[in-house]
Amino acid sequence: MPVVQPIAARADFPVGNARCVVRTNRAVNDRYRHLVLEAPPALCGATPGQFFHLLCPPAAGNDPFLRRPMSVYRIAPDEHAIEFLYNVVGAGTRSLAALAAGDTLSVMGPLGIGFTIGAAYRHILMVARGVGLATMAPVVPWARRRGIRVTAVLSARSPADLMAREFTQREDVRVHPVFDQDGSSEVARVETLLRAILAEDRPDTMFTCGSNRLMALLQRLGLEYDVPGEIALEQQMACALGVCLCCVRPIKAAGEIVHKRVCCEGPVFDLQQVAGTWRHG
Ligand SMILES: Cc1cc2nc3c(=O)[nH]c(=O)nc-3n(C[C@H](O)[C@H](O)[C@H](O)COP(=O)(O)OP(=O)(O)OC[C@H]3O[C@@H](n4cnc5c(N)ncnc54)[C@H](O)[C@@H]3O)c2cc1C
Repeated sequence: MPVVQPIAARADFPVGNARCVVRTNRAVNDRYRHLVLEAPPALCGATPGQFFHLLCPPAAGNDPFLRRPMSVYRIAPDEHAIEFLYNVVGAGTRSLAALAAGDTLSVMGPLGIGFTIGAAYRHILMVARGVGLATMAPVVPWARRRGIRVTAVLSARSPADLMAREFTQREDVRVHPVFDQDGSSEVARVETLLRAILAEDRPDTMFTCGSNRLMALLQRLGLEYDVPGEIALEQQMACALGVCLCCVRPIKAAGEIVHKRVCCEGPVFDLQQVAGTWRHG
């Protein structure tokens, strides 16, 4: 059984560190994998947008060394499980991909600040690209349980990369897929689509993750249509506890640029406050 070793006793810092047992770790498509861990209840209290810091195990000639941040993809306290959807890009995620059922993995979390789901919300517009889809997917069942409509614009390279079923988690969600392959993911075409959605059924908020270009577009449309929003940022990080400062990003606050730590003051920030860009397209 997994063992929880609390790394802080404060009630306002409910972060656990546990060695969890792998239930399944299977390929979803050529790019993404789905990892399900047996987790103690103390680790199952995450909210959408929060993440865990995974100690990816060393393999021959491959020692990831630092933990790797991974958004919680599905939160299932009743099933004593936490789930991740991940893209294999380097040493850490390659070693995750090698885990088999019955192996163990040290995870620390839940960490960071997740999405805000206001009690008065009736409609959420979500715009996700690539692996940003994994970060935003838990919002869907969370919102649906509260009777909130969700419209999702999902951007991917091709239909094979889309993972619409993984995103909706079998909930009744209006999905608009757009692809690089046929040009429908071009910013101008996404803008036309978003304008139609905003005019037809104005959302209370817009959530996004995974693309600088989509972030800039949503910032512009958010101001024009007076719709607030939030964005989950991805930034390389080391400690994930706010100590090492290696994940700072420029954020606009009270007319000034300040640097905030993505790990503990994010990863979810007010859409209009994020300044500058990061590596993703
Ligand atoms: C809060 C948070 C949540 C995340 N959630 C997910 C998720 O749900 N699913 C998922 O697949 N990935 C997620 N990521 C990204 C994931 O952490 C990185 O892909 C992973 O750490 C890469 O480790 P690696 O050792 O495999 O690759 P590395 O060898 O470390 O890097 C491979 C390539 O990816 C780039 N890279 C590495 N880490 C990041 C990062 N954090 N942001 C941007 N580029 C990076 C490197 O610069 C390099 O080009 C998240 C990142 C953050 C900060």
